[in-house]
Parts: sequence; C-alpha cells; structure tokens
Amino acid sequence: MTDEMLLAKAVEMLGRAYVPYSNYPVGAALLAQDGTVYTGCNVENAAYGNTLCAERTALCKAVSEGARSFTTIAIAAKGSAPFPCGACRQSLYEFAPGLRVLVTWDGHVREAMLSDLLPEGFGPSSLGK
Ligand SMILES: [Zn+2]
Repeated sequence: MTDEMLLAKAVEMLGRAYVPYSNYPVGAALLAQDGTVYTGCNVENAAYGNTLCAERTALCKAVSEGARSFTTIAIAAKGSAPFPCGACRQSLYEFAPGLRVLVTWDGHVREAMLSDLLPEGFGPSSLGK
C-alpha cells in the first residue's frame, strides 16, 4: 500500500461524508500493521456534540474489527489542511503513538508524525500499561 493509494482512499471517502451543517467533508484511511485499510468519513448530527470525525470513525471501525496497531493514516478534505483535531490525536495516540499522518487537500500533501502533533501525549504507558 503506497502513500498515494492510501491518500486516494481518503479522497474517495469524501463522497461518503455526512456534513449538512459544516459542509466540510473529511475522509480518512487508516493503514493497519497487517496491511488492511479501514476507511471513515465525518458523520455530523443535529445535536452537534454527537458529530464523529473521519479519523475516529476509521479507528473505531478498525478496532471493532480486531485491529490494534497502525502505521499510517491519510486524511483528505477541501480548502484547508485537515490535520486531526485534538480529540482524534488523543484517540489515535492510544493505539499508535508512532503513527504517520498524511493530509491532502486541493492537490497538496503534507506529512507529520502523531508524536509531533501530540507531544508528551497521555497514553497507555502513562498508566503503566
Ligand atoms: Zn477529530
């Protein structure tokens, strides 16, 4: 699975986003250690607080299917760089503190490490796990 293929899957997920309130579709593709890709999109709700980000949608799909380790996540949007929100950084850190994060928008691509996006993150090792 190349970065380009993973990014293409994230872009493809833009079409599945349910975003009647923000009109800001986001797609994600999370690559597990075993090569399986779990996709997600943002799913908004009239009760705004119930909105799910694309990254956490993909993560919950993956974990519920038995995946526990991940190498890379690709995230796609339009108009601005879709680096993960704070809640998603924390959720991803739980399973993959060394995760590579690829973001794409309007033909641009940027890369970062989750450990740089969430320095000194709180995770299982913080609780001695
Ligand atoms: Zn988020």
